Amino acid sequence: MEKAKFIWMNGDLVPWDEANVHVLTHTLHYGVGAFEGIRCYKCEDGRSAVFRLREHLMRLWQSCRILGIDCPYDVDPMLDICLETIRANELEECYIRPLVYVAAGQMGLGATSENPIHLSVAVWPWGAYLGDDGLANGIRVCTSTYQRYHVNTFMTKAKACGHYVNSIMASVEAQKAGYQEALLLDVDGYAAEGCGENLFIVRDGKVKTPPIATVLEGITRNSAIDILGDQGVKVVEERFTRDEVYIADEAFFTGTAAEVTPVASLDDRVIGAGKPGPVTKRLQEEYFAIIRGKRPVYSEWLTYL
Ligand SMILES: *Cc1c(COP(=O)(O)O)cnc(C)c1O
Repeated sequence: MEKAKFIWMNGDLVPWDEANVHVLTHTLHYGVGAFEGIRCYKCEDGRSAVFRLREHLMRLWQSCRILGIDCPYDVDPMLDICLETIRANELEECYIRPLVYVAAGQMGLGATSENPIHLSVAVWPWGAYLGDDGLANGIRVCTSTYQRYHVNTFMTKAKACGHYVNSIMASVEAQKAGYQEALLLDVDGYAAEGCGENLFIVRDGKVKTPPIATVLEGITRNSAIDILGDQGVKVVEERFTRDEVYIADEAFFTGTAAEVTPVASLDDRVIGAGKPGPVTKRLQEEYFAIIRGKRPVYSEWLTYL
């Protein structure tokens, strides 16, 4: 990965290579911690803006609430810390990774309410997560042998560190089998989401996405629903099966990292014409225009540096 200069850790901007934690950091052992993935883009007027920063930090705060740990800062201070970290690194465009973790102290499981809770914010340059070719032409996806977890096993509304064991096993499995991303089904066998992306399909002009019960409530997902609505396309939140994806006209993933990435095939069944369809393309174009500050009606989604 491309390094930046400083990482904000618990009140200080620390040089990148010195941003270390103790090996007995509680979160490192047990996974109770929360993080966010946010992007800052260079806009057409030359300024840089962070996309939906407040919503991401609100979700970080809520993830802590769900996990039962005390988020050390409120949303507003965290917002300032993120902006300060980007400025200190002199980056025009970057990925932003805030992390709230349970620091070292006691090792018992109940230590989440005794040990200090720390915040770190790292930023670094990161291009298209699923590749420029993926954005332009779509990616090859397979149904994972791993399921998304039951709603009472983990907490689907939290973007929690430990949840990513599930995502990483599915992602590595898919890549070893020659695919670019995995689709995870929920415990009832319905399509849920990618390892770090929400799923949409278009069939006979109707757009569907799985309801939020079993998936992370993605901020890009919510943005896509709003943008499509403004384009006169209604999105229905309802369950569907993997074979409905096989026969869909279009499918795409949304996520801060993946942005709007078309799905070209699922389990080697070509979806639609096998290239991005009109609904996907129009959404993608609008999304990229919005994040680059070209759409004043969506300006409240942008926090300028
Ligand atoms: C982060 C994440 C997403 C995408 O959420 P955004 O807010 O759009 O970045 C989707 N699914 C999972 C499991 C995630 O962790």
